[in-house]
Amino acid sequence: MEKPKAVLIVGGGIAGIQAALDLGDMGIKVHLVEKNPSIGGRMAQLDKTFPTNDCSICILSPKLADCFRHQNITLHTLSEVKEVKGQMRDFSIKLRKYARFVDEEKCVNCGDCSAKCPVKVPDEFDMKLRKREAIYPYYLQGVPAVMTIDREKCLYLTREVCKICEKFCAREAIDFEQKDTDVTLRVGAIIVATGFDPYDPSGISQYGYERYRNVIQSLEYERLICASGPTGGHLLRLSDNKPADRIAFIQCVGSRDFRNNRYCSSVCCMHATKEAMLAYEHDPKVKSHIFYMDLRAGGKGFQEYVSRGEQEYNISYIRGRVAKITEDHDENPIIWYEETQTSETKKMTVDLAVLATSFVPRKNVEELAGTLGVELDEHGFFKTDPLSPLDTTRLGIFTCGCCREPTDIPESVAQASGAAGRAAEAVMG
Ligand SMILES: Cc1cc2nc3c(=O)[nH]c(=O)nc-3n(C[C@H](O)[C@H](O)[C@H](O)COP(=O)(O)OP(=O)(O)OC[C@H]3O[C@@H](n4cnc5c(N)ncnc54)[C@H](O)[C@@H]3O)c2cc1C
Repeated sequence: MEKPKAVLIVGGGIAGIQAALDLGDMGIKVHLVEKNPSIGGRMAQLDKTFPTNDCSICILSPKLADCFRHQNITLHTLSEVKEVKGQMRDFSIKLRKYARFVDEEKCVNCGDCSAKCPVKVPDEFDMKLRKREAIYPYYLQGVPAVMTIDREKCLYLTREVCKICEKFCAREAIDFEQKDTDVTLRVGAIIVATGFDPYDPSGISQYGYERYRNVIQSLEYERLICASGPTGGHLLRLSDNKPADRIAFIQCVGSRDFRNNRYCSSVCCMHATKEAMLAYEHDPKVKSHIFYMDLRAGGKGFQEYVSRGEQEYNISYIRGRVAKITEDHDENPIIWYEETQTSETKKMTVDLAVLATSFVPRKNVEELAGTLGVELDEHGFFKTDPLSPLDTTRLGIFTCGCCREPTDIPESVAQASGAAGRAAEAVMG
């Protein structure tokens, strides 16, 4: 049988998308597998991106559309890899495609169905800061632009009552008869690009996350300040909906910490600077303080970005690890810290504290690594070798982006193009 000139990409974030577009443009067939209802990954959740402060979804959207339309790319959303057999140049893949219960050909994402759905559950894309229905668009600009029924929350699928969405869908796109299906694919190479999760800071009890309503984590902040987010882009405190004028950004929460993750998450110094800049752009009254251990501004134009933050955006950088956060009677967080440059212990009252949580491997990464037959490193990221940094431990399987190590978008894109090159070599060789 002829060897397949096709590549499987697992994970439809910016890294997987870039690798798919590069391979597709080389004339190689790509199967892009995404477990969520839409592609886009974490970048779709961000408001703006450093170092240019471009609107994240505005630069991502054309890539989503290109992926969707590309003649060499097949999107498999709501799908997972269940089995990998064979070897480089001839892998056989078993893919499980979960039912969406909505006909993708008929749905036009009008929202008539969700407007009538009686179920309200926390929305994962908006970091549970707002509620969504059981039939919902994963996010406004998601691709494919269709609704999805949450099988665990839908009243019909759990209790056989309701079906209101079906009644109000003029295009008859609701299909409760859809079943999960298994598909077999043959590919010559695989790229893993499953990204990261934010570390759950509730275990660091001294910071009061989940105990204090005005202590939030960075990805929640990104959704709060984003125009398509739960507050329409107004930076309001969760306790009283008042604007946050004094903000503390606490760095290295769960990173560079022997009790949690020893590694540096590498992106947080820059994203905190960006987030403080955005607050100032929304309201020049805002004063931001960034509490850091070491400022890591190692990328192209990054040091200049930090200097601009200090000079033009009213940001103070305070060197010191925050010991604890308490709160006053108005639910204002109080930051207790040692300023290491003067060895003074101090406290500061703010309106909002934002925890820059470390990047950790995706939940269930061990299961995926087992299915792929590749090794993870001591932290749970896909293991690579310094001299072949995009190759996993199994021939023909490559990796890029944040499942390899914490990286920003430019670096994830660069790695994706590198991984696409390695995969192309494998299938064409
Ligand atoms: C608060 C915050 C702010 C940030 N701001 C910036 C910024 O301003 N500029 C910048 O350059 N970077 C920023 N970043 C970093 C940026 O988010 C990452 O660099 C980027 O998202 C990495 O892309 P990725 O494709 O590797 O991973 P992800 O974005 O995590 O995408 C991975 C995809 O894989 C899917 N997936 C996971 N497991 C599976 C599986 N088993 N099967 C199928 N699919 C799977 C996921 O659902 C997801 O869609 C920020 C990060 C955070 C946390």
